Amino acid sequence: MMQIQRGEIAPETLVHIERVAGIGDIYENGRLNVGALATHLDLAHNLVLIDRYRSISHAASLVGGWQTQAVGTIGGNVCNASPAADLLPPLLVHGANVRVISQGRGKREVPLAEFIVGRRNIAREPDELVTGFSLDKAGGGTADVYRKVGRRGAMEVAVVGIAVRLSVDEDGKISDARVAVCSVGPVPFRASAAEQTLVGAIPDRDRVAAAAQMIVEQSEPIDDVRATARYRKMVLPRVFENVLTECHARAAGR
Ligand SMILES: Cc1cc2nc3c(=O)[nH]c(=O)nc-3n(C[C@H](O)[C@H](O)[C@H](O)COP(=O)(O)OP(=O)(O)OC[C@H]3O[C@@H](n4cnc5c(N)ncnc54)[C@H](O)[C@@H]3O)c2cc1C
Repeated sequence: MMQIQRGEIAPETLVHIERVAGIGDIYENGRLNVGALATHLDLAHNLVLIDRYRSISHAASLVGGWQTQAVGTIGGNVCNASPAADLLPPLLVHGANVRVISQGRGKREVPLAEFIVGRRNIAREPDELVTGFSLDKAGGGTADVYRKVGRRGAMEVAVVGIAVRLSVDEDGKISDARVAVCSVGPVPFRASAAEQTLVGAIPDRDRVAAAAQMIVEQSEPIDDVRATARYRKMVLPRVFENVLTECHARAAGR
């Protein structure tokens, strides 16, 4: 609605999807399935998410304010494809696939990283509806954390957002590392070089600092009304180090 009011888009037809049955459910069947119509409040209050997909429920609890969380959906957050979308980093670290359906061509499933093709640009055909998201299983020894940096606690778009998901073995060594960031480039992305540096290690100061530097090198922040690119590049490694330490401690304790 805001894009229409600003004259950025001028759709001929609006389709109301709020009452489409069966695409708001959250359930597990090997993977975790989250329906496109699940609202931010649904995500923030869901007990499975709070327990094993905490980065998602926490990110949802930080979107806008109470009103936005009550009506805004995960499908809208993803299809909006904002560089600052809070749910994108957590969904990326959980290996999300996007489920879409069209009347003529049926169903297909696309990895989220391929679905978000650019700033406010998604790989959705005009006749396709996003029905939901399928996420990797999060078992024992795995934890996830999302941290949002903003100028205030509510009604705030992220200056930097970071999600980390780690799996650790019994010795505390990282067996799987996933890191994704938003608000530091045209699209949120997985920091693959940093991830590779962390796998097989018990994260010490030097290794975490090296991984943080790799994320900064992969980022392309801009100056905007919320922060300068320089500030984003300063904040990013410090917040990452903090999030990684918290996530590792939580994964080792599970
Ligand atoms: C005041 C305010 C504060 C906000 N704060 C934040 C914030 O802090 N963090 C953040 O990440 N976002 C924020 N947003 C952005 C946005 O409102 C939310 O991300 C919300 O999740 C959007 O969901 P929606 O269901 O309202 O989508 P809509 O706004 O209705 O839709 C967004 C786009 O996605 C398309 N779309 C929606 N659902 C589907 C579907 N199932 N299949 C295909 N296309 C679909 C629509 O056609 C439209 O192009 C804010 C917005 C406002 C107005």
